[in-house]
Amino acid sequence: MAAGALQRRLLERANLCSRCWHDAVQRCICSRLATDLALSLPIRCLVLMHYKEYYKASDDAKLLPAMLAPGLADIFTYGVPGELDRLQAELAVDPEHTLILWPGDDSLTIEQFVASLPTSSPWHRPLSSAETADRVEASAQEQHNGTRPMLRVVVLDAVYRHARTMFRHLHKTAAEGLPPPKHVALHPRTLSVYKRAQNGYAQASAKSTAKSADPEALRICTVEAYALLLEELGEPKAVPQQLVQAVVINNEALECLESVAPRSNPTGRRARRRHHLERERAAAEAHPQACAAAGVDGEVGTERGATGCEMASSTLEE
Ligand SMILES: [Zn+2]
Repeated sequence: MAAGALQRRLLERANLCSRCWHDAVQRCICSRLATDLALSLPIRCLVLMHYKEYYKASDDAKLLPAMLAPGLADIFTYGVPGELDRLQAELAVDPEHTLILWPGDDSLTIEQFVASLPTSSPWHRPLSSAETADRVEASAQEQHNGTRPMLRVVVLDAVYRHARTMFRHLHKTAAEGLPPPKHVALHPRTLSVYKRAQNGYAQASAKSTAKSADPEALRICTVEAYALLLEELGEPKAVPQQLVQAVVINNEALECLESVAPRSNPTGRRARRRHHLERERAAAEAHPQACAAAGVDGEVGTERGATGCEMASSTLEE
């Protein structure tokens, strides 16, 4: 069913850019996105994306494979036959150096995760001065020498209830004889700029984090979560910052879409209001990593206006 739905979506949205998933003619943001970003640390991102998020302009996880160098990020589409098996096969490569970003009960901090690795793991070792001086080269050398193994990070990309289902499914279907991957929650020091945070997500997150066992573990969007994880692991800020900036760029394209849609959409004020409320409801239970609370709007506000809404639009895509 999911595969059929995806097929139909791809056909219906043939106008979209295959890289950024915005309208290829009117709103493509690819020229503003960095490409082939190399990391100084051997970390591979495995995006488990719910099929309903696939090929949606508002999705942000698409930015990871679009921007990172080949081999550093891959999308596995939940709901499409064979995709979970492909992911499980990857998780089985080196289970000890694999984690899921998920802020649920019993989650570890990144420090606890590293401490839980076998004492022989080179991930215990702080980065050397040589790496600090030229870490990309040093890391490549390390990989070559096999001293610091690839760390695999699963990120879940879906609205909250779907992500929770995917997480549970992943646990239940862990490869035979293997424990499910450990899950790690972040303590981000930056605020979310994620689009959905503007639509009531902040309040939803504030409530959910206040009730959780770890209220300090704020929730943010998929790309931001990954960017922060990279920083917590010791990756220099340059690449994480470019990833977060891409979220801002994606949001600007979405804002343009919304700002012009009412003028060209003849459905009337009441319909637009209904649509807005539907979006708010959806946003309130959006991504599991999503949302940092207070200050979100202010931060977005300063980032906005950098380019203005120069792009045209005809319809809302969600
Ligand atoms: Zn594009």
